[in-house]
Amino acid sequence: MSEVVTRDPATGRELRRYPAHDDAVVERALAETSAAARTWAAVELPDRLAMLRAAGKLLTERRDEYGSLITAEMGKPLAESLAEIDKCAWNCTVVADLARGWLADSEIESGAGRSWISYEPLGVIFAVMPWNFPFWQVLRFACAALAAGNAALLKHSPDVTGCALAVEALFTDAGAPAGLFRSLVIEGARVPSVSARIVADPRIAAVTLTGSERAGSAIAQAAGAALKKTVLELGGSDPFVVLAGADIAGAAAAAARSRFGNAGQSCVSAKRFIVVDEVAERFVSALLAETARLEIGPLARADLRDTVVRQIDESVAAGARLLTGGRAAAGPGFHMEATVLDHVTPGMAAFTEETFGPVAAVVRARDDDHAVELANDTEFGLGCSVWGSAGHALAVGRRIRSGALFVNAPVASDPRLPFGGIGRSGYGRELSAEGVREFTNVRTVVVA
Ligand code: NDP
Repeated sequence: MSEVVTRDPATGRELRRYPAHDDAVVERALAETSAAARTWAAVELPDRLAMLRAAGKLLTERRDEYGSLITAEMGKPLAESLAEIDKCAWNCTVVADLARGWLADSEIESGAGRSWISYEPLGVIFAVMPWNFPFWQVLRFACAALAAGNAALLKHSPDVTGCALAVEALFTDAGAPAGLFRSLVIEGARVPSVSARIVADPRIAAVTLTGSERAGSAIAQAAGAALKKTVLELGGSDPFVVLAGADIAGAAAAAARSRFGNAGQSCVSAKRFIVVDEVAERFVSALLAETARLEIGPLARADLRDTVVRQIDESVAAGARLLTGGRAAAGPGFHMEATVLDHVTPGMAAFTEETFGPVAAVVRARDDDHAVELANDTEFGLGCSVWGSAGHALAVGRRIRSGALFVNAPVASDPRLPFGGIGRSGYGRELSAEGVREFTNVRTVVVA
């Protein structure tokens, strides 16, 4: 029988073995979620939202248990895991409080007796999710999908199989009908073919994926062939632009938090620190001081760490200056030193690729125009953070292409605000009214 094995990234040791789901289990999950979607669509919205509120309450009650599970499976420090659970609980509450407004009929004057938009469920949403925020990534899409009256079928990263099964149990315990949210455990080699088959299955209405461009492209191809809607939340190489006049101490503290939180394994963490020459020396020394104070957890897997070390080595070989860190840390597990590279330029791996680990790439700009040119010199477009006097930073930020612009603050997701990217960072939006409506049939109703 095939199995999925989880490992503790802090030690590299095996945690647990889970029997993988075979074709018969996948078929049963499709049948059950599809039946549950029909029942759930007929449940009144306040009752659907009551289930999400109950899930939020359970998350808070079980925060220690879930937090420890996240830390065991993907390695982040416990305080960060607990913060992730708290954010999931907050998301449940926000959706429970606000989704009535987000999903209410919207009247439109058209000359007919009455005309309006009605937001109706689509059916079963298939979700492919990554390991970096094993609860948050799932709750982010699930609260939206379930609030809108859909069912959900999850293929989580095998690295966090315990979390995937815990989220399934969470919704059941919160009162979701049987089959409304199911987690599949698929063994590595079978993932592409089984996922493609699920996407093509007529019982699946739409697909959402968070992960790499490679995975996004594979799933979007399958969905395109089957003419199914997709939402893709992929990587980023977010610019963090520091202008003359910026609060350098505040910017450096936020830069370190944004880059090194979650050991740098976040799509919206700042990755390219584009600093105008006038303040570059001051910013770099403040960033180094912040970096020296950090404690970061291990990366989630050995191959992810290898990729980051390769990106650093290639950038240094191409002329970047290594100011601190740069290597895999000695000892067991997948730890890595917090790294700052200076004088990174376009074309270097740390500039063009997504660096999914603790590596800050400082890029020096002559002036504002040069900073904007460097910030836009990427195929990604998730978030962008600009630091300077408020009006000046906003004016510069408006010239940079991204799905989100934060002025004098690091980019962060918030359940009340839309989240998503442009370009190779993906398309569609999660969270807020926009996120909930992605998983609906935006239906026009006209009564003469
Ligand atoms: P992947 O994109 O491979 O993994 C994310 C999810 O996609 C996992 O559940 C994975 O399952 C699944 N997946 C991958 N290929 C397919 C496929 N063909 N069909 C169906 N599902 C698929 O990321 P990795 O974990 O390998 O990380 C590699 C890089 O991706 C990182 O270094 C980072 O740059 C980026 N990344 C970005 C994230 C983000 O938040 N934007 C999150 C995670 C990674 P399985 O593991 O079973 O293949």
